[in-house]
Amino acid sequence: MPPYTSAELRQRWRPEVMRVAPHTPVRLSDYATDYTGDFAKKEAAEILSMGIERLALYQDRLYAQNRYALLIIFQALDAAGKDGTIKHVMSGINPQGCQVFSFKVPSAEELDHDYLWRYAKSLPERGRIGIFNRSYYEEVLVVRVHPELLEHQQLPPECRTGDIWSQRFAEINHFEQYLSQNGIVILKFFLHVSKAVQKKRFLERIDDPAKNWKFSLGDVQERAHWDDYQTAYEGVLSHTSTPWAPWHIIPADHKWFTRLAVAAFIYEKLESLQLHYPTLSSDQQQILGEARATLLKEPEA
Ligand code: ATP
Ligand code: MG
Repeated sequence: MPPYTSAELRQRWRPEVMRVAPHTPVRLSDYATDYTGDFAKKEAAEILSMGIERLALYQDRLYAQNRYALLIIFQALDAAGKDGTIKHVMSGINPQGCQVFSFKVPSAEELDHDYLWRYAKSLPERGRIGIFNRSYYEEVLVVRVHPELLEHQQLPPECRTGDIWSQRFAEINHFEQYLSQNGIVILKFFLHVSKAVQKKRFLERIDDPAKNWKFSLGDVQERAHWDDYQTAYEGVLSHTSTPWAPWHIIPADHKWFTRLAVAAFIYEKLESLQLHYPTLSSDQQQILGEARATLLKEPEA
């Protein structure tokens, strides 16, 4: 992100504070929700807009090269800012190369399949960026917090004997390893908001008519399960951050920092792939030369 060097920025926003090392037990209370690195809001906005331009450039190369796909997973409690982050960070991206899927309560058809089915159907093609706004992690989060949801999944009794959550963590890790071995690069973001800021944002949704549409009574009911969700997230973050699909715990009390941090991690990952436009073989170059000659021979209209 010129004029800043990547190394200089890295020192200032300290990505290691947010990255979850594989197989490391996570206690969310050890992660600040209001961390902002060494940035002020105004400067962060400038860096973000430069970053967004560079992301568009990388996306173009990703698309042209048609080798990798990028899957970006967002998980969070309500009002942590998933939607706004997706909107801002992807604002420079060519819509043809990007798709966002928001996963809600599963339909009857989806419940009649294995739990990964609906997510597998929505994976990005090579050359594309796929964004999951909620994901298969709901299967070890909301379903764990509300065990009656597991009943709706109609599993036969012999599939319910062991520790289903450990089993699902292992299945998800394998699934993601399989994806990564097929060229699907995975980044996972947990937007970590404090209980006080969630309350403030819910109140804004109630008090501001322009935000009323965002308010849902269900969100307040889920808030009553705050501690259960924190524990369920700790389970996910402790068991499913892997070298091939790392988790990032993104402080979410300040939206401007959330957006900067997410953009920076995506930028860093795309940079590491050394994406480039395909180079043509000499045969292909000859075909281009012939096409050029044909076009130039056409009489002027
Ligand atoms: P927003 O509120 O910003 O529109 P959202 O992601 O919260 O976004 P909602 O329609 O409010 O969207 O909520 C979706 C609900 O679907 C969440 O409560 C989530 O926990 C639930 N959900 C998602 N996946 C599953 C699942 N596999 N099983 C059960 N519930 C799920
Ligand atoms: Mg919601």
